[in-house]
Amino acid sequence: MTRVVNFIGGQQRPSQGGRFAPVYNPATGEVSKQVVLSTAAETAEAVAVAKAAFPAWAATPPLRRARILFKFKELLEQHSAELAAIISSEHGKVLSDAKGELIRGLEVVEFACGIPHLQKGEHSLNVGSNVDSWSMMMPLGVCVGITPFNFPAMVPMWMFPVALACGNTFILKPSEKDPSLPLRLAELLQQAGLPDGVFNVVNGDKEAVDVLLTHADVEAVSFVGSTPIAEYIYATASAHGKRVQALGGAKNHMVIMPDADMEQAVDALMGAAYGSAGERCMAISVAMPVGEDTAERLLQALIPKVQALKVGNGLAADEPEMGPLVSKEHLAKVRAYVDQGVAEGAELLVDGRSLQVAEHESGYFIGGCLFDRVTAEMRIYREEIFGPVLAVARVASFAEAVAQINAHEYGNGVALFTRDGDCARQFAQQIQVGMVGINVPIPVPMAFHSFGGWKRSLFGPLHMHGPDGVRFYTRMKTITSRWPTGIRAGAEFVMPTMK
Ligand code: NAD
Repeated sequence: MTRVVNFIGGQQRPSQGGRFAPVYNPATGEVSKQVVLSTAAETAEAVAVAKAAFPAWAATPPLRRARILFKFKELLEQHSAELAAIISSEHGKVLSDAKGELIRGLEVVEFACGIPHLQKGEHSLNVGSNVDSWSMMMPLGVCVGITPFNFPAMVPMWMFPVALACGNTFILKPSEKDPSLPLRLAELLQQAGLPDGVFNVVNGDKEAVDVLLTHADVEAVSFVGSTPIAEYIYATASAHGKRVQALGGAKNHMVIMPDADMEQAVDALMGAAYGSAGERCMAISVAMPVGEDTAERLLQALIPKVQALKVGNGLAADEPEMGPLVSKEHLAKVRAYVDQGVAEGAELLVDGRSLQVAEHESGYFIGGCLFDRVTAEMRIYREEIFGPVLAVARVASFAEAVAQINAHEYGNGVALFTRDGDCARQFAQQIQVGMVGINVPIPVPMAFHSFGGWKRSLFGPLHMHGPDGVRFYTRMKTITSRWPTGIRAGAEFVMPTMK
């Protein structure tokens, strides 16, 4: 059986530890590979390798670092079909969606190619008489990325292109559920000319992560995953003196105002709630129609579409709209949430629990589920389900929608559908959420802006990529300098004294 190993110092390295985890094809339920679960000693070795590679890489001119990233971008484009198939075979998402995630990652590479400009720093002439001051944006050293299963390409690429461009070295600890793609990225970076040791991949679980969070030679930790783990990562790595950005879970609402273009809102909702089987941190999991009439019109259009969702193997030639969930355990968890919703008294209008996909009886499939009359106390409203389960939570007014969303513990993304600019403007200002869409269902900021939620969706002050990404992966050094005039005044023959 193929083993997904580590990539340290420019080489694939098997683990000596003897612990492995199975990697599944979620569409068939078959084990396709094994991934190594690295030991603490192997992880510490990766830190040592990354530390040794740092001085030369930090001293490489930003323009040369950018040229390697330009080449990497070209390679990503050349290999996009192969990479998308790898993503789909371990995550389950449909191929066009896998290509979409690759493009969103590639856009961060494009942003990072601008590093000679982004890392120029600041300069002031004459901060005092004949005194100049400037700030240099220095790389930090060894940076770490710990990433979730749901975007095996995009989320690592939110982090390492910017970190490397700034002159840091990097250790990626990918999700053990779909580890093949990150290893392929390491090979492509090497092919693009990245010196050995600058980018390393350590596969593993808590044992490896704990070394990365506490090791004295790690300077910064970027994390994306579930909120309880994000909180643990933030607390542990911060307590060990690292700068940390830890992005967590979400419950994203879409408010539909009575004046919204209903056809547009419903189409947007279908893609945002059920695309990637709801396994997106920016998926819409709550639809909030304002007013009873809006709710009725919404459901009338929505129900048949959810019932008609095409579910199947993400790699099928006749591409379905939704693939399987990532694992058997996750499927059981999502099903249990649907059971819970019914028990809590929500109305299950579309029930996808019994869906079977022909010739894929062992795959981790569930059909689209739709609940109506979901209230703020219910667990299916409060907790992140991370599956194709959409809750309709009816509200009577715009103010009630805003208040209810603001009271939620998560604040990752939110959307408003309306034709009223004044309402949209108020919403953008009042809502306590990090990323806001106005008639845009999944408002993921472009690479040259920064991505991050509020409240318990992010721990730490800085968001990912864009200007915040450059700030996170650099630290300022400010130089104040005075050059006393000397020789130009002519030779002095008296004993030199301080002036
Ligand atoms: P997860 O928290 O289970 O795992 C994320 C990473 O943490 C993995 O690399 C995993 O190996 C590691 N990990 C897991 N348990 C650990 C432990 N006890 N100690 C140390 N490390 C541990 O998340 P997941 O299931 O892979 O991903 C789904 C979650 O990620 C969802 O909650 C989703 O909302 C979130 N997510 C958030 C964003 C965002 O931008 N906020 C983006 C994508 C995904």
